[in-house]
Amino acid sequence: MPVRDSEAIILRSFPLGEGDRLVSFLSRANGRMRGVASGARKPKSRFGSTLEIFSYVRIWFYERETRDLVRINQCDLLESFFGAQRDYASELMLALASEVTEAVLGEREVAEPNFRLLLAIGRAIKAGADHRIVSGYFALWIVRLGGWLPRLGRCGQCGSAISGDGYFSDGGGIICRACSEPGRTYCSSGTLELASRMLVNKLDEFLKPDAANGLCTANAYELRNIMLNVIERHIEKKLRTRKLLDEVRGLSANA
Ligand SMILES: [Zn+2]
Repeated sequence: MPVRDSEAIILRSFPLGEGDRLVSFLSRANGRMRGVASGARKPKSRFGSTLEIFSYVRIWFYERETRDLVRINQCDLLESFFGAQRDYASELMLALASEVTEAVLGEREVAEPNFRLLLAIGRAIKAGADHRIVSGYFALWIVRLGGWLPRLGRCGQCGSAISGDGYFSDGGGIICRACSEPGRTYCSSGTLELASRMLVNKLDEFLKPDAANGLCTANAYELRNIMLNVIERHIEKKLRTRKLLDEVRGLSANA
């Protein structure tokens, strides 16, 4: 089989056998894939640190006709995000992005927008952005790219325009105050406005100092939680790293 190559972001890697690694990665050209990097855990491995979580690499691999796993030949580092993991919250943010990407994308489903989204949030975290803003943006766009985002401006039940605060129903739709019932997730008007802005602007727009005010951060956090609920409903499981990230927030709030 011919060797193929692609830009890729490493999502996760696990030890395999004596000295190999099983690597999950998002290829820009081929979608989410898994492969084996032979000898990657041996000293002086040719893979070096290229298989660290979130590394942006050029990867060479070939397919094996009878196996799901590709064989990874070579990996060159294009950009490292090792520095982005300077604190535990940033590290967990990148781990959350990896976990969500693995969970929402089918294997070999080409997902170039997801690739660009991952790269953008990695760079934002590396530049020191607040993880609440980055994760709010990320979760909203994952829901949008997954085709699960309801119309934000109109009530999914009565069809009237939503002015002011709204509520999220279990089905993921947004509903007005009049249609809301107990148990629905509250969504403030500021959060709805932020979501609308995030759908038409690049992440960079929200990282400038004037945009990073308290209101924006609180709205981004509310948005993140609502969108992660939508994601968890669709993947039918709880995100492991979400819980860990919430615990970090709890610790810093008590400090
Ligand atoms: Zn309504």
